[in-house]
Amino acid sequence: MQLYNQQNIQIYNTLSGEKEAFKTITDGYVGMYVCGPTVYSNVHLGNVRTFMSFDVIFRYLKHLGYKVRYVRNITDAGHLENDADVGEDKITKKARLEAIEPMEIVQRYTVDFHNVLHTFNFLPPSIEPTATGHIIEQIELIQTIIDNGFAYIVNGSVYFDVHKYNESNEYGILSKRKLEDLIHNTRALDGQSDKKNPQDFALWKKAEPTHIMRWPSPWSDGFPGWHLECTAMSTKYLGDYFDIHGGGMDLKFPHHECEIAQNQAAKKQTPVKYWMHANMLELNGTRMSKSTGNYINPAELLSGNNDIMSKAYKPSVVRFFMMQASYRSVLDLTDAGLQASEKGFNRLMDAVNLLNNLEPANTSTHAISNWKQSCYKAMNDDFNTPILIANLFEAVKYINQIHDGSATITATDLELLKNTINTFVFDVLGLENVAKEDNSSTKLSGAVELLIKLRQEARANKNFALSDQIRNELTELGIQLNDSQEGTSFTF
Ligand SMILES: [Zn+2]
Repeated sequence: MQLYNQQNIQIYNTLSGEKEAFKTITDGYVGMYVCGPTVYSNVHLGNVRTFMSFDVIFRYLKHLGYKVRYVRNITDAGHLENDADVGEDKITKKARLEAIEPMEIVQRYTVDFHNVLHTFNFLPPSIEPTATGHIIEQIELIQTIIDNGFAYIVNGSVYFDVHKYNESNEYGILSKRKLEDLIHNTRALDGQSDKKNPQDFALWKKAEPTHIMRWPSPWSDGFPGWHLECTAMSTKYLGDYFDIHGGGMDLKFPHHECEIAQNQAAKKQTPVKYWMHANMLELNGTRMSKSTGNYINPAELLSGNNDIMSKAYKPSVVRFFMMQASYRSVLDLTDAGLQASEKGFNRLMDAVNLLNNLEPANTSTHAISNWKQSCYKAMNDDFNTPILIANLFEAVKYINQIHDGSATITATDLELLKNTINTFVFDVLGLENVAKEDNSSTKLSGAVELLIKLRQEARANKNFALSDQIRNELTELGIQLNDSQEGTSFTF
């Protein structure tokens, strides 16, 4: 299936600040790297949104017939507090606070991460490498950067020389920052640091005596810098120049800027053709933050066990909600928004469930192949899921019209409609048809309520034979009626 040749995908490239025609480096193949989580706490809903955006991109490219190698790493060492070069390793700190091994922290939160993503119906990436599994590659990379003259060694630590790099390259090319402005806006070194300049960043840090996670290297027993692991792992599995690098907006600077600098310094090559950044998820109009209490984690959102939302929401409803915004827009998570998405999701699933009951006719009142093209057009335009969903609702309207007899469809068009709906709703958006079951239980409850009403009427008319018959036959079906002063309730 060489379908990808027919599609003209446009991707917004952070590097150029424009939408660009998507042309893969090797025809038919896509290499995609996405910065994964630092596994020192439960995964944040904002991260779920980022990974979901790339899950849909992965799904769509696969659907088009591309062979996609999707690499998403696990950061299990080297990520210091405040994303800076000082402070404690995030994982080591958590391990110290809980008095357990760092690798127990890594294991616990890697499992949590996988469970949450599985709940939201993510496809697993092709490769999920860990930082600690690639120490040798990182040491080799540092050595090359030193040999090429872009790093220096101080007291067993190695730092990337940003000022030296900027003489022959452009540091800030991705985040549109100028080194002069960065120098102007940073305070001078306080004399505590080994760095030549505050803009330099660590490639290797000598471990303090208390630091548990450490490895031998030519410079000291220590650990690699956070930015370095992504360069080592992305290029190991995707080559020195690959198609797509993704991540959250907050990683653009300094993390991704440093990845470009490291690759240029080591391999004299920019690493990535298309840089893609997913925007932030807010909660009730402001930034999510544990310290202010404006925070909800995935488990709390799905269980309803929280003070922020009025009820529990299904994973597919949350997924649908997130897909209703472009990955490049800020998305505000609210109870009203989720309720609206739940209604929309249920309407969509009701229509999907109707598809198999539709009777074909001799003519179609709607042009299905044009509609199908507009679904592709939406996704080809920088993976515009809200426009795709608007198109799906055009189909929902049509399906309902066919069902109530005010529109018709031919057998061929009906097949095309079914296939296209299944492709986009389930394969590309990754939704799951869970509404069906609930829907039928809602309908069943409605039917029982109706029987209770008829039984009350029978009793009012002294027709006790009928009222007993209703009660007994419901009991036989496993539905128990409970009479009380307030009226009759039922349990299954
Ligand atoms: Zn990264």
